[in-house]
Amino acid sequence: MQPIPAVRGTHDLLPDVSGAWAWLHAAHARVAEAHGYRLIDTPILEHTELFERAVGAGTDVVDKEMFTFVDRGGRSVTLRPEGTAGAVRAVLEHSLTQAHRPIRVHYAGPMFRYDRPQKGRQRQFSQVGVECMGERSPYLDAEVVEMAWRFVEALGITGVSLQLNSLGDAADRARYRGALVEHFTPMRDRLCADCRRRLELNPLRLLDCKRDAELMAEAPLIADSLSAESTRYVDTVIAALGATAIPVTRNPRLVRGLDYYAHTAFEIWHVSLEGAQNALGGGGRYDGLAAVLGYPETPGVGYAFGVERLLLVATSLGTIPAVAPVCHAVVCSVAEAQGQAAAAAARLLREAGLLIVTDAGDRRLPRKIAAADRLGAAAVVILGEDEAAQGAATVRDLRRRTEVRTPVDGLVPVVAAVLAANLSEP
Ligand code: AMP
Repeated sequence: MQPIPAVRGTHDLLPDVSGAWAWLHAAHARVAEAHGYRLIDTPILEHTELFERAVGAGTDVVDKEMFTFVDRGGRSVTLRPEGTAGAVRAVLEHSLTQAHRPIRVHYAGPMFRYDRPQKGRQRQFSQVGVECMGERSPYLDAEVVEMAWRFVEALGITGVSLQLNSLGDAADRARYRGALVEHFTPMRDRLCADCRRRLELNPLRLLDCKRDAELMAEAPLIADSLSAESTRYVDTVIAALGATAIPVTRNPRLVRGLDYYAHTAFEIWHVSLEGAQNALGGGGRYDGLAAVLGYPETPGVGYAFGVERLLLVATSLGTIPAVAPVCHAVVCSVAEAQGQAAAAAARLLREAGLLIVTDAGDRRLPRKIAAADRLGAAAVVILGEDEAAQGAATVRDLRRRTEVRTPVDGLVPVVAAVLAANLSEP
């Protein structure tokens, strides 16, 4: 029979990498919690309509990339392709903005997009993100942008740039859409098939096209469609960021093609990531989203980062710290008859706060000792026939290759002394 492999575009988080994974998530939680954001965890499965409305028809995510299926009750459900729609739905469904305004939440978890798998692009990937909802203030936009920057900084990632643009408000974008349609309609025949569709459905999306990049370079800029008030808004965001020493690159071509986005849009790019995959993360203000989902109008701003992409860059830069040992000592029973005694000794050591692995396998003792060494253990606690008969154990210091025998009830200080000696030596 053929062995069953993982589904294409998915990957396993293996133990050697899980320390780095935990480090990244802890760093994100620390930055988020330092700013008053609390953890929210929403279902991976949502009604398809949530993403159709929130992410929008005419986007690649909705048109081509969703994992959508009909459940056994005949309802169309979708594995979430991004985190904002679910977080916003949850906040509004539970009326959280009534108690806290703004409500600040952070999240982490898997997302699904049926995309062509390549480096930095999977079908199941993970994001960490934040959402701040219930208030509109340029200082909240600046807070979210600064947090994104602080997070990347906390991971030790250098070589990043912060790209920021303003999408104005709904009236500005209506003006801008008009300008795009006016500009591109005469050259409709030169556009790719997707762009011809976008021209009708969602002209803002035109600017994301990679195939027609040359034509897009000539497109009108949204800055020319902004009202005085929108210009003041983005200027305040930039001024607030000016006080943080975060270098901001104004990028007039950075757009999000969705109608509910407003004012700030930003991305953090890394020099080592190329082409369409150059963003480590991005975010922005989405004041119109709540209404699109059928809830009372509620402004919001947030960001999301791709975990795998961050780990790719952090690994290449060597910024991931060595992880602490997962095993202080291995307790080995020499034969099956000592299994109980070994389990009791291990329990005693764990109660003292030590990380203990047991080895009741049928390999010979030298093999067990070599395996303990590979696990990074400092000591091996041996329970052989003699030891078990005397209620004792032999403690072997793997570094110094010394051994002492001790009564089992005196094990803790003996093992602790071996660990302490190991820690004090480089
Ligand atoms: P988006 O929701 O498209 O703005 O994506 C935010 C971030 O998630 C991106 O900057 C990437 O770091 C990450 N990301 C998006 N799609 C994928 C994917 N298919 N595979 C891996 N990471 C992704």
